[in-house]
This record gives sequence, structure tokens and C-alpha cells, in this order.
Amino acid sequence: MDVSFILNELGEDREQYFNAVAPPIVQSSNFAFDKVSEMRELMLDEYKGFLYSRGNNPTLTILQKKLAALDGAEAALVFGSGAAAIFAAVLSQVKQGDHIVSVRDPYSWAARMFDVILPRFGVSTTYVDGTNTANFAAAIQPNTRLIYLESPNSFTYELQDIEAVVALAKSHHLVTIMDNSYCSPLYQQPIKLGIDLSLQSATKYISGHSDTVAGVLTGSTDMISKIFASEYMNIGSGVSPFSAWLLLRGLRTLPIRLQRITETTKTIVDWLKQQPVIEKVIYPMDPDFPQYELAQRQMQGAGGLVTIQLKATTIDQVERFCDSLQHFLMAVSWGGHESLAFPACASMNVADFRADEPRHRMVRLYIGLEDAGYLIKDLEQALAKM
Ligand SMILES: *Cc1c(COP(=O)(O)O)cnc(C)c1O
Repeated sequence: MDVSFILNELGEDREQYFNAVAPPIVQSSNFAFDKVSEMRELMLDEYKGFLYSRGNNPTLTILQKKLAALDGAEAALVFGSGAAAIFAAVLSQVKQGDHIVSVRDPYSWAARMFDVILPRFGVSTTYVDGTNTANFAAAIQPNTRLIYLESPNSFTYELQDIEAVVALAKSHHLVTIMDNSYCSPLYQQPIKLGIDLSLQSATKYISGHSDTVAGVLTGSTDMISKIFASEYMNIGSGVSPFSAWLLLRGLRTLPIRLQRITETTKTIVDWLKQQPVIEKVIYPMDPDFPQYELAQRQMQGAGGLVTIQLKATTIDQVERFCDSLQHFLMAVSWGGHESLAFPACASMNVADFRADEPRHRMVRLYIGLEDAGYLIKDLEQALAKM
């Protein structure tokens, strides 16, 4: 399906909204019926229509249709956060005594779920280095139920060979879930590569303006309708009609934002690689990236996240670089209009800093919609102060 068609027309019914160009925000908690028979039909299967906005809502339905189509999936659910999408997806596939094989260092709240919450219900997780598919095979146990992927991850960008892991999972009748936040559906479509459930934080590129927290889960109608009727309705973490509307607005400009961000990032990556105080520049679509060939095979682009490893000998130097940035804001998250810097050493105690630990000297940059030259000048003056 044409991306332009998906973003502009799919799921829209302008006659229903007085021919308005922008869809209405249907800010209603519930929906009324003319006949008992009509009400009964939805009471028995709420997935079918509009009964109560914890389930379906017309503004949300427009968004879900577009997000499913972008992923090449049959159906989508939108959650109040990416973390909620992760939680619902994993919870829907495991029961007491089950085992999960996950790529190591997944998103921090996915790791918390695996390490803290799921063990309370008798579900255990083995982490593997996902750069070698054989590690997944070696970790499978008789009670393994699912394989959890995140490719690339959002700090050092290690990839998993999605098609190879999917083939392995299928041969063992395992479910696959993948966090696709880094790429967005424009740069990678896990469902098309055979993943069962694909999820992403819509807070990032989909919202695109740093003003909404949301998550997306896509898959077959069979799997998604079951999750709707269970985890989604029970956790009650769907988005409000207003957030759905903001996400629809963000979606309209997603291709042009990503295109601009990708071009600017390429220019900045090339510049960063010339800087003597930078030891290493980590970017999946850079020819020096160890998995560059795999990135080219399964991704259509790499967006605005790039990590630099500073030649610092003290934590003060890393902090001086970050504190000196004037246009890059220092913050977590990414995907908005504004460029950001996130130093790894902000997540640790000062006393634990070790200069011989490369990760401690890493700063993740997110390149937003500003001009490349404007951002390079800022990086240049901050590196000089280091
Ligand atoms: C931000 C993020 C999430 C969580 O999404 P929220 O919308 O913040 O809950 C999950 N995975 C990755 C890779 C992320 O970057």
C-alpha cells in the first residue's frame, strides 16, 4: 500500500466529519445504541465497534488503521506508552512456568519487566548476545515460549538478523515479539520479515513533536483481537482521543521529517568521524558499523540517533562537553523536532565512572529538524571546551 495513501486517506471518512479535512476528536467515554440487539452484539464482542472508549473510539480507529497498514500488519492497538505495549504483548504470550529468550540489554523497562515482575509469576528470561543467531538457539529450553527482540537497540544499535531468528523461532513453534522503536515503520517492517508482534514507542517518531506519550502494537487480527479482549481492556492503558488525534497529526509529516533527519544525521556523522577527540562514532548505516551489511539488508534507513565515544579520561570532561551544548537539549527520549544529547554517565554514580569502560564515555545524540551547520557549530564549540 502506498504510504501517501495510508497517511492521507486510509481509515478516513470525511462525510462522517462534516467534510472537515482534519478528523474530529471524538471526546466521548461511551456510545449509545438504538436497539438492544445492537448493544448485545458489542457487549458480546467489543472489538467489533464502539461501546466504551477504554476499548474502541472513532478517532483511535483511524489511527490504528494507518499504523497497521504502515507495518504491513492486519491490525494495531495503540497504548498509553511504549512500555504498556511491551507489557501487554509479552504478558499475552506467557503463563506460569514459561521461559523467554530475550536479546540482552533491551529497553530498560522491558528489562525491569523480565527481571522484576515476570519472575513473581514464575516466568524466567535468558538474555543473549543477539548479534549471533546461534546464541538464541543455544538458549532455547523445553519451556521456552517466546523470543524477544529489539533491533537495533537505542544506544549502541546492535542488530539481530530478523529473518534468521524468525526461522529459528518457527522451527521451535515459538512466538516472536520485536521492539521496532529505533527504525519506525518507515525504515523497518518486522511483520513483513515474519515477526508475530511488532511494537514501538509512538512517543518518538510518530508523535514527532515531543508532546505525547504512546505505544503501538501490531500483528495478525487473531493475535491483536485476543490481546484487545484481554490485556488491553484489563490493563486499561489505551490512549485518549486527544492523544490519538495528536498522533494522527504527527503521522501526516512522518516521511518528510524522517527524510530530513536522516539527511542531516548523515552530514553530522561524517563530521563527527573527523573529530580527533571522538574515539568512535556508532551509526548503523555507517560503513564502519560492524553490522553495516545486515543493516542495509533489513533496514531502509537509520534516522537521527547516533552515539559518540569521547576520548575522555575523566567524567568531568564528558560532563563539560554536555553542559556546554547550547542548541542540543540534554534529555532522554528522541524523535521530536529538537536535537538532544543523552550521556551514559548520567545514569550512573560519579564514583562508578571508569575511563577504560567505553560505554561510560558514550553520549547519544539525537538529530532533530534543525540545520546541520547550526548543530555542527554547537558540537564544535562544546568539544573544544572538553
Ligand atoms: C522510548 C522507548 C520505549 C518505551 O516507550 P515509552 O513510550 O517511553 O513508554 C521502548 N523501547 C524503546 C527502544 C524506546 O526507545
